[in-house]
Amino acid sequence: MVNADPLLRSALSAPPPAEHGLDALTLGRRIRELRTTRRMTLDSLATAIDRAPSQVSMIENGNREPRLSMLRTIATALGTTVDDLLKPEAPSERAALEIAVERAQRGPVFTALGLAKIRVSRATSDETLQTILTLHHEIERLHRERAATPEEARRANAQLRATMRARDNYFPELEEQALELLTAVGHSGGPVSHQVVADMATHLGYSLHYVGDLPHSTRSVTDKRNGRIYLPTAQSASRDSRTPILQAFASLLCGHDEPGNYADFLRQRVETNYLTAAILLPEKDTVRLLTEAKNLRRISMEDLRDAFSVSYETAAHRFTNLATARLGIPVHFMKVHESGTIIKAYENDSVRFPSDALGAVEGTTVCRSWTARTVFDVPDRFSPWYQYTDTPSGTFWCTSRIEKAKEGEYSVSVGVPFEHVKWFRGRETTNRAVSLCPDESCCRRAPDDLATRWAGQSWPAARTPTSLLAALPTGTFPGVDQTEVYQFLESHSPTH
Ligand SMILES: [Zn+2]
Repeated sequence: MVNADPLLRSALSAPPPAEHGLDALTLGRRIRELRTTRRMTLDSLATAIDRAPSQVSMIENGNREPRLSMLRTIATALGTTVDDLLKPEAPSERAALEIAVERAQRGPVFTALGLAKIRVSRATSDETLQTILTLHHEIERLHRERAATPEEARRANAQLRATMRARDNYFPELEEQALELLTAVGHSGGPVSHQVVADMATHLGYSLHYVGDLPHSTRSVTDKRNGRIYLPTAQSASRDSRTPILQAFASLLCGHDEPGNYADFLRQRVETNYLTAAILLPEKDTVRLLTEAKNLRRISMEDLRDAFSVSYETAAHRFTNLATARLGIPVHFMKVHESGTIIKAYENDSVRFPSDALGAVEGTTVCRSWTARTVFDVPDRFSPWYQYTDTPSGTFWCTSRIEKAKEGEYSVSVGVPFEHVKWFRGRETTNRAVSLCPDESCCRRAPDDLATRWAGQSWPAARTPTSLLAALPTGTFPGVDQTEVYQFLESHSPTH
């Protein structure tokens, strides 16, 4: 490697422009490098392949992509093979640097600035090229960061939810991947133990390293170069020890690259969580259990949770993957902060979530009468909470449970339309509520007598909702301190 700078490193290993499937820049450099080692001039190579020198120059500069027949002629003239010319590596470290600078100058960010390109000559030092390249990448990083506005985040959220609804939140390709992995390590049913998960890591060529100094902004860090997954020695009591390992290699299995924007980041997070859940609650076993429960008319999130030793949230969320596609039950899911703010939401049962002008649900406040809110007032935190709610879009039955996290308490709720409650345990509940939201008179506007008494007589200081801050993404991996991660990897790396 020319330089240890991670920005530079990623630039040098950047994939070739996708439109050709062939990297004209690298190919051109390889041809030029061979020509000069053969002590051939541009003219003599041009004569040898029966083309004008200007055409050879275009190819060497990566401005034209030669056809295969021409490539063969060039290879013969240079005494090499087409395969050799098409190798993806730059012919030298210097050439790699020059290619990276050229690629940056051809990129959309630089082009948009309308500046003249810097012509790189032999006299340009490596240091100058490195500085130029680092500046390029910093500008690109700032662009990415600025593009990720809260509006973009909200739009991306809305779009993702629409995609999930269109697929009934069921991803067959990820189910397939989970099955392959479970089969590869010989898992034959039942809950997936920590050991099975560790075997999967080994099967994928990764070793697990438990360390005390994991960057505080991460759950795990994967060193792809050395095949290592770093995990915290201290597990928080509420977290499952299998989940961070699975999430670490789920990204690798899904083939995730560094997210290009916030939408990518969100999609990757959904896929990672999906694959993780599909491994912890294997499709076949889970569908069998749920089908039996459906036949006995006693589907229960608690039973699903206990059968696979997962959190309530994982069980409830997994239920939404399989409910419609495999059991024919439309469903909705919500994770709501104690403040009433929606953190996650999914529906394909026509329940009407509150939403903002951009169609985003996350960050909005849910009706006080909904199960996701009323559950906070129930003193018994052990028994499941059930409720029928009449809403302007129909009557829904929901079950909800509170889970504790660092940022406070959350309710996790699963609900179905009235006509599907017959399959669920808890349908006999007498808890009922009426919600008129989004009508303001429901719970958004204070009752008249209170309003008359207190209007203009109060001055509350707002507490900043954690969810709003979380919706403001910065950096390639929103919320992750990249420098800290690189320094961590550097200090733990077996090879320097
Ligand atoms: Zn309401």
